[in-house]
Amino acid sequence: MRYFAQPITNLINKLTRLPGIGPKTAQRLAFFIMGGSMDEARELAIAIVDAKKKIRHCSVCCNLTDIDPCQICRSQDRDSGLLCVVEHPRDIVAMEKTREFRGYYHVLHGSISPIDGIGPEDLKIKELLARLEKGDTKEIIVATDPNVEGEATALYLARVIKPLGIKITRIAHGLPIGGDLEYADVVTLGKALQGRTEL
Ligand code: ZN
Repeated sequence: MRYFAQPITNLINKLTRLPGIGPKTAQRLAFFIMGGSMDEARELAIAIVDAKKKIRHCSVCCNLTDIDPCQICRSQDRDSGLLCVVEHPRDIVAMEKTREFRGYYHVLHGSISPIDGIGPEDLKIKELLARLEKGDTKEIIVATDPNVEGEATALYLARVIKPLGIKITRIAHGLPIGGDLEYADVVTLGKALQGRTEL
């Protein structure tokens, strides 16, 4: 027997594909949307499509943005000698919340993971190296996740960046190993940034 009408099953299936949403949460969200007005449902659908249409990669740092270059790359009051490399756009938010970092960023969009078939060429490393050639970067702070993939990525970056004569540091391991940078609390992440070590 079918539990739900087909369009509701379809909606639940789509919601279940979102990260962190299990079948129960998906059902709750689907019924919440069904209980709301048509306007609310339309606004939700339009917000998703609108964000998808307008957001692209910043041509400088590869962060997600609706203006190019992005807000951070445009700002003039940051230290142009400092560049923090992160895996995901959401990690920039985590770093900004620490208020410990006043340089610029570069987003790799992932980490090196041979098991998943992700190599350096699948990340925004070419873009990073091109940027370093013309920029006045004095120090690169690698803030990839404190897990195997994040470490492999940091070591790879050290290998290709050191010959350029740029200092390269890794944020300290006050961070839980195996964790995600975005879930680190502000104080831990701030301390990890202060205690960075040269790679
Ligand atoms: Zn940018």
